[in-house]
Amino acid sequence: MSTNHSAAQPSVLIAGGGIGGNAVALQLLRAGIRTTVVERAAAPRPGGQAVDLRGPSREVAERMGLMPGIRKYQLDERGMKFVDAEGRDIVRMPTEMFEGKGAVAEIELSRGDLNQVLLDALAEAGGVDYRYGEWISEIQQDETGVDVTFAGGSTQRFDLVIGADGLHSGTRHMVFGPEEQFSTYLGGYMSFFTLPSPDGVEDNWLAMHSLVGATSIGLRPDADPATSKALIIMRSAADPALRREISAQQDMIRRRLAGGGWESAAIVAAMPGATDFYFDELARIDMPNWSKRRVVLLGDAAYCGSPLTGQGTAMALIGAYVLAGEIAAHASDPEPALARYEEVLRPFIAKAQSLPPGGLRAMTPKSRFGIRAGQTVSKLMASKAMKPLMMKMLSKTESYELPDYAVQTVSQ
Ligand SMILES: Cc1cc2nc3c(=O)[nH]c(=O)nc-3n(C[C@H](O)[C@H](O)[C@H](O)COP(=O)(O)OP(=O)(O)OC[C@H]3O[C@@H](n4cnc5c(N)ncnc54)[C@H](O)[C@@H]3O)c2cc1C
Repeated sequence: MSTNHSAAQPSVLIAGGGIGGNAVALQLLRAGIRTTVVERAAAPRPGGQAVDLRGPSREVAERMGLMPGIRKYQLDERGMKFVDAEGRDIVRMPTEMFEGKGAVAEIELSRGDLNQVLLDALAEAGGVDYRYGEWISEIQQDETGVDVTFAGGSTQRFDLVIGADGLHSGTRHMVFGPEEQFSTYLGGYMSFFTLPSPDGVEDNWLAMHSLVGATSIGLRPDADPATSKALIIMRSAADPALRREISAQQDMIRRRLAGGGWESAAIVAAMPGATDFYFDELARIDMPNWSKRRVVLLGDAAYCGSPLTGQGTAMALIGAYVLAGEIAAHASDPEPALARYEEVLRPFIAKAQSLPPGGLRAMTPKSRFGIRAGQTVSKLMASKAMKPLMMKMLSKTESYELPDYAVQTVSQ
C-alpha cells in the first residue's frame, strides 16, 4: 500500500514515541493518515530488556511487515536458568522445553532494538512529523477537534489525539484525571540497564538469582556478548522519593544488593556508568474507558500490566494495530472507531494484564527458606509432569483472534 494523504483524512497527534506510539504512527501512515509524534525525550530512548513476540503479537509483527527488521536484531537466546550465590546452576529451562512459549520465547529482541525497527519502517514508509524534546502542556477539545498547546509554546489543532505516553501518561492526567484514580501499585520496583558482561556469564542464557530480602537479580547477554542487561526486581512499600530521583533509586539498589552473592557486586559497580538506566514502579492501569471524545489512550497509558506480565510490548503492538485499523476504517468519524477499538481489544487485554501465579511474591522470596521453596517450585515447573499445566498457563493470550484490516504492510 502506498502512502496516500488526502484532505478527507483526519490529522492525528501521537504523544509518546515508544513501541505503541511508533507502531500506530506506522500503520496510520500506511493508511494515508497524517500524524505528528511528540516524544518527550531528546532522542529515541535506548535500553530495556529483551521483549518477546509470540502468538498474536508475532502475527501483528508479521502483518506489519516488521519481521525482516526484527530478524536483524533477534537475540540467540537458549533459555533461562536459576543460579545460586556462587553462580552454580539450580535449574535450567531451555527455550524448547516450553516450545518457545516460556520466559524465553522463540523471538526475543531488546526493547530499544524493536523501537529502532519501528523507526526504520516509519522512515521507509515516508516519515512523519517527528518532534523530540516536545510534549503536550494543554489540551482542549470540542465537537470538531482538539486544540493542543505544546511545551515549546506552539499551538495546533488536530482531529484526534492518541496518548501513547506510558505508565505515567501526561495525556491521561490532563484529559481523564490524576494517575491515582487508575493506577494500582503492585508492591515493588524494577530496574534495567546495560553493563559489560561479567566474566562468569554464560552466553545466550538468561540467568536469575534470588537474594535474601525480597530482591531478585538477573543478567541477559546482549546480541554482542561483550555486554549484558541487568535486571533487578525489588518487593517494597511505595516510596514517593523513588519517582524521579535517580540517586534514591540507585541507593535502594545498592542497599538491596549489598553482599548478595553471584554478580551483585558487578551489577552495583557498573550501575552509575550506565547510559540507559531505567527504574520504575510496578503498577497496573485500569480505566473504565480508553477514550474521551477525540482523545484516546494506547499501551501502558491505558492498560499497563507491568513488566511482570511479560505482555507490555504485545499489548502496545496489538493495541496499535487495532486502533490504526479502526481509525482507518472510520476515517471521517473517530467516535465509532474508538468504540470499536475497545470492543475488539478488551478481551485480549483482560487476559494479558493478569499476573503469573504467585505474582511478585513468588519472584522475590524474602527469607532463605522462601528462596529454597522457590527453587523447589522452579524444579517442579521444569519437570515433565508439569508441562501440560505450564503450557496452558503460558498460552493465556494465544487464542486471541486478530481482526483483519485493509491496512497491513507496505507490500500488500
Ligand atoms: C526506556 C524504556 C525501557 C523499558 N524497558 C522495559 C523492559 O526491559 N521490560 C519491560 O517489560 N518493559 C520495559 N519498558 C516498558 C515497555 O516498553 C512498555 O511496557 C511497552 O512496550 C508498552 O509501550 P508504550 O509505548 O505503551 O510505553 P513506553 O514504552 O513507556 O513508551 C512511552 C514513551 O512516551 C514518552 N513520554 C512519556 N511522557 C511523555 C509525554 N508527556 N509526552 C511525550 N512523550 C512522553 C516516553 O519517553 C516513552 O518513549 C521500558 C520502557 C522504556 C521507556
